[in-house]
Amino acid sequence: METIKQEIEQLRLKLNQYNYEYYVLDNPTVDDFTYDALMQRLIALEEEYPQLKTPDSPTQRVGGEVLEGFVEVAHQVQMQSLGDVFSKEEFEDFDRRTANALGIDKVEYAVEMKIDGLSVSLEYENGAFVRGSTRGNGFVGEDITTNLRTVSSIPLKLKEEIPYLEVRGEVFMPRENFLRLNEQRESIGEPLFANPRNAAAGSLRQLDSKITAQRKLDIYVFNVQQIEGKELSSHQESLQYLSFLGFKTIPHQNLFYGAEEAYAEIQRIGEMRGELSFDIDGAVAKVNQFSQRESLGTTTKTPRWAIAYKFPAEQQESKLLDVALQVGRTGVVTPNAVLQPVRIAGSTVSRATLHNIDYIRDKDIRIGDTVVIQKAGDIIPEVVRVLTEKRDGTEQVFTMPDTCPACDEPLYREEGEAAVRCQNSNCPAQQMRSIIHFASRPAMDIEGLGPAVVEQLLDEKLIADVGDLYFLKFEDLVALERFG
Ligand code: NAD
Repeated sequence: METIKQEIEQLRLKLNQYNYEYYVLDNPTVDDFTYDALMQRLIALEEEYPQLKTPDSPTQRVGGEVLEGFVEVAHQVQMQSLGDVFSKEEFEDFDRRTANALGIDKVEYAVEMKIDGLSVSLEYENGAFVRGSTRGNGFVGEDITTNLRTVSSIPLKLKEEIPYLEVRGEVFMPRENFLRLNEQRESIGEPLFANPRNAAAGSLRQLDSKITAQRKLDIYVFNVQQIEGKELSSHQESLQYLSFLGFKTIPHQNLFYGAEEAYAEIQRIGEMRGELSFDIDGAVAKVNQFSQRESLGTTTKTPRWAIAYKFPAEQQESKLLDVALQVGRTGVVTPNAVLQPVRIAGSTVSRATLHNIDYIRDKDIRIGDTVVIQKAGDIIPEVVRVLTEKRDGTEQVFTMPDTCPACDEPLYREEGEAAVRCQNSNCPAQQMRSIIHFASRPAMDIEGLGPAVVEQLLDEKLIADVGDLYFLKFEDLVALERFG
């Protein structure tokens, strides 16, 4: 029992930390699949040992805290999370429970895309947008009205002046805008957003709404939280009414009867995933009739009338054309896969990380291999495995060179360490990385001095190290590309 207790404590500690990074800092350090696996383990342990359950466990809580600088908004109707399932069997269990509780044979479901963005509430009085807020911890969120006004798909005035309406939707950043934003940030040395979800969250929780406006966010609305002056009896009817009022509602199809039909629709949504212009992380099945929702009720954290089916990380096959070595700021030499370009998670991937030489050896990754690439929440895709059955004998084993690809000095590997390093402090690749790092936002935050400019300055021999930056003259800079 003592070891179980310890494991539970460890899991809670980790999950609380990840929640803080994800919800408060908008800067996760692990991908969603890792997070979900830890959460599933904790849920299973708490179910097996209910005496160890506590009200403050991450399994019992939703979201994060209110950021400093924002006014708090108390939600009149709790903004809940969703229960999740990861397989057909788990989905069928959910359906069985629901049908049994309702005492019916086949449940009528609406099935929708699960948009991977930030949950918001929008409130309207007499048809005018008066307040918008984040979900926060479900009970209290942040007032982000001014920022939400800059999202052009949010109507500021509705087609009908109903006395009061609160809707819920998901704000997201289209993939193309996300890629452009990160390119822009990279060129000026700003830290990159890990994925469109965090970019959207970071853009919406800005104290300066001008920044939000530049980020070109979008929204899909999917629920009526409260309404006065109109009777609605089903989800489908409410979505139709929201569309009529002028909202961009979640794309939906027909209704689906029973687990089999609903599951087929979930699969169909999963197949569309790569081709969409925005990220989805699953599909949501919802009981359509409001009277049935009422009789099913909710738990403290999630409704019993809906479930999220989470999709696995996207994977694609590609060919490993070569292994390119990159020398980092501290001299660590990282092997990167050069791939035949493939489309995955909405973008074209031609590079992926191979982490280190042990990873390549353990997975027996050879040049010429057909490999499986995965792109999870993180923006750096990785090679997850080799399809050895597709080998034809021409594949070549990769070996780390003895000397640095940038300066030719010997490479060195510390006993028990996975990393191989170049120890030459004058190595040009290291110099470049350290200048880029020096100029970046977490360090000196030198505006306009991104990797492309540093490279140019080095190529033109205008600088050789960090110190030289302070002796650059106006004439040196205007001669550079894009500096006119
Ligand atoms: P969730 O994201 O799994 O599901 C609930 C959310 O789905 C709601 O807030 C809602 O806004 C949204 N949603 C999108 N489309 C919807 C639709 N059509 N209908 C209804 N809701 C819709 O739950 P959560 O509590 O917001 O977040 C938990 C998840 O976040 C985890 O499972 C994990 O994947 C991720 N997370 C990751 C980390 C990390 O460090 N990587 C940390 C915390 C959470």
